[in-house]
Parts: sequence; C-alpha cells; structure tokens
Amino acid sequence: MTTCPRCNGAGEAGTVMGSVKCWFCKGAGNVNEKQYEMYIEGARLRQLRVDAGMTLKAAAQAAHMPAWYLSKIEHGEAEWPNVPEVKKSMVFPP
Ligand SMILES: [Zn+2]
Repeated sequence: MTTCPRCNGAGEAGTVMGSVKCWFCKGAGNVNEKQYEMYIEGARLRQLRVDAGMTLKAAAQAAHMPAWYLSKIEHGEAEWPNVPEVKKSMVFPP
C-alpha cells in the first residue's frame, strides 16, 4: 500500500462544502501501487494536455476515445487502454 496521492493519507479532502471523503482512496488514506501509478500517470497526461492548450474534448477526439473516458484516465480511475507510449506522445507531444 502507498499513501493516497490525492489526500496525502488523510482520507478526506476539504472542499467549499466542508470536508468530504476522498474519492480516490474512498477514505482509506492509502491505495495500492497500481492505483498510485494510474493517478500519477493521469495527472501527467492532464498536465500535457493543458500545456498543449487542448480541451478535454479535443484531446479525447484525437485519441479516439470518449471525453468521459479520458476524464477518468486523468483522474487515475481508468488506464489508457493498450496504447503504447508513442501513441500517447502523438496526442500529447512532449
Ligand atoms: Zn485519498
């Protein structure tokens, strides 16, 4: 297990609505290593997209996937499906 990268192990996150259970670790405060990797990778992809000035919709279209799915990937809730690194870099040039 690894400390949740979203809430730093607190299990909850402060919002304008008050403190709520962390959606990523479901309040556990830690996640397994696979989830951790997905979160870091998703955050990296999101940063690349934002730096490229692309909207979620445009990037999803370029990657031939629905926008909701790319959103899940960026939040570490889904994996980029069987796409090698080179394909990712075509969508999000380094
Ligand atoms: Zn968490």
